[in-house]
Amino acid sequence: MSLLLTGIAELTTNDPARGDGHADRGDALLGVVRDAALVVSADGLVEWVGPADEAPDADTRRDLGGRAVIPGFVDSHTHLVFAGDRSAEFAARMTGTPYDGGGIAVSVAATRAASDDELRALVAARVAEMRAQGTTTVEIKSGYGLTLDDELRSLRIAREVTSHTTFLGAHVVPPEYASDRAAYVDLVTGPMLDAVTADGPTSLAESIDVFCEPHSAHAFDGDEARTILEAGRAAGLALRVHGNQLGPGPGVRLACELGARSVDHCTFLDDADVEALAAARGTTVATLLPGVEFSTRSPYPDGRALIDAGVDVALASDCNPGTCYSSSIPFAIALAVREMGMTPAEALHAATAVSARSLGLDRRIAPGQPAELAVIDAPSHLHLAYRAGVPIVRALDL
Ligand SMILES: [Zn+2]
Repeated sequence: MSLLLTGIAELTTNDPARGDGHADRGDALLGVVRDAALVVSADGLVEWVGPADEAPDADTRRDLGGRAVIPGFVDSHTHLVFAGDRSAEFAARMTGTPYDGGGIAVSVAATRAASDDELRALVAARVAEMRAQGTTTVEIKSGYGLTLDDELRSLRIAREVTSHTTFLGAHVVPPEYASDRAAYVDLVTGPMLDAVTADGPTSLAESIDVFCEPHSAHAFDGDEARTILEAGRAAGLALRVHGNQLGPGPGVRLACELGARSVDHCTFLDDADVEALAAARGTTVATLLPGVEFSTRSPYPDGRALIDAGVDVALASDCNPGTCYSSSIPFAIALAVREMGMTPAEALHAATAVSARSLGLDRRIAPGQPAELAVIDAPSHLHLAYRAGVPIVRALDL
């Protein structure tokens, strides 16, 4: 049965064809319609969008009581398949121990030791937690298995909850390969990649990712990252990169050169990095992950400067057990506004339209699009950052 949603004080459509209201509130960027209604078809697609007083009839109707409706958040960077607890590492970091990527091995050991059902339950709980905070689409990486069987297992479990899965065998060099890094790169680009793509290029993973970080002894340098990304591209996978998180490095420029869909973190950038990202607009998105800077007491990336330079800026959670065990996009939005100079509208756009684009998706509320919606217990999206830390947004169950 079709459903008419009314009582929408403010609807963010992300549709450039709409939104002619307050420029200072970002109405044009977000395609805002006030006093809106929308009709959802029986098969879950948006059928009609517009002012409430022009709404057509539908089989059923629901009044949302003057709330704001937004596109569901697209969390385009997460590491949800893991077991174990690293809260003690977080506590140590808050008393001065710096982060260097070494703690990933702790999660790898716990993940390898967990059963399929244990991992499945952990992932399901995290996805439910995200949905309760407004996230309706999630990308999930492997990367805490780091053996052929454990990476495949992680991807299979992730695939049960999302089609946006990413092979991150090149998360870190596991301890058993510390004295022979080249052998591990060979394993990732050879047998692991072959197994991931055995049933077709994107049967198990949509993308390949690498932690390109010369400042970590555990991660991969520019040459290793290039080898891994080129192998993934040749196998038919889209490219994503962890780049420039801990210091300046080659990750961002490599991602732009190779046409990656996204380069994530972008915390330490020089002018050439920003120029490369601006030139790659429309192809490569810079995905900022401010929960990481919060959880590692690091300086925030300059989101304002990137947007002003013409870069496509996305926001995601990077939910992971080490550097940011927060699944909250509203938290990332609040940090982006408070710490990275982004406007509330830019932050919402970054966590929906732009993060979606980095997954090859269109996240508009427009006829023919899936009705992936979130509802805010407030009359405007401005309350997401204004009421930081208050649970006012959730995915809308239809
Ligand atoms: Zn990450």
